[in-house]
Amino acid sequence: MFYIDTEGLLSVFRLIGGVEAEELAKLLLAKPGMREDELAAALQMDVKRVRKLLHQLSEFSLVAYDIVVDKELNKRVFRWRLQQEQVQGVVKTQLKRIAERLQILKKHYESNQLYWCGSEGCRKYTFDEALDKFFKCPSCGGKLMVYDHSKLLKAVDDTLAEINKLLE
Ligand SMILES: [Zn+2]
Repeated sequence: MFYIDTEGLLSVFRLIGGVEAEELAKLLLAKPGMREDELAAALQMDVKRVRKLLHQLSEFSLVAYDIVVDKELNKRVFRWRLQQEQVQGVVKTQLKRIAERLQILKKHYESNQLYWCGSEGCRKYTFDEALDKFFKCPSCGGKLMVYDHSKLLKAVDDTLAEINKLLE
């Protein structure tokens, strides 16, 4: 089953709302049900800013609130908590997207033979481009040879395997 650990969970918050969101997530993880003013005090942030951040995160369904009557304050307050299952979903969707992009990249490399002089700073050329330049690199004058992308394909395959393992 797909499962993301606490560190992964926090990095999702950081990705979406920056360091402030990550700190907020840490607080809610340790103590679910905190009020906006409690969060603001703990984060040393303006309560308006905290509210904005919470709403931003709730748009991604990463946090949710319960409205409860606080007897001490004698009014209705929002109590916030993390939606961990939703975070799993957000990350899973992202991983699926990455896997799709890698598949496209793989197909591209498999169907297009490239030519390269072997110098790190020089670009690679398609067959037509290489033919156009008489198989001579326009940047360094080196000979353009068939570029062996088996290593690259292997790396793509390894990454895909890792992602698929996570998604199982
Ligand atoms: Zn070159």
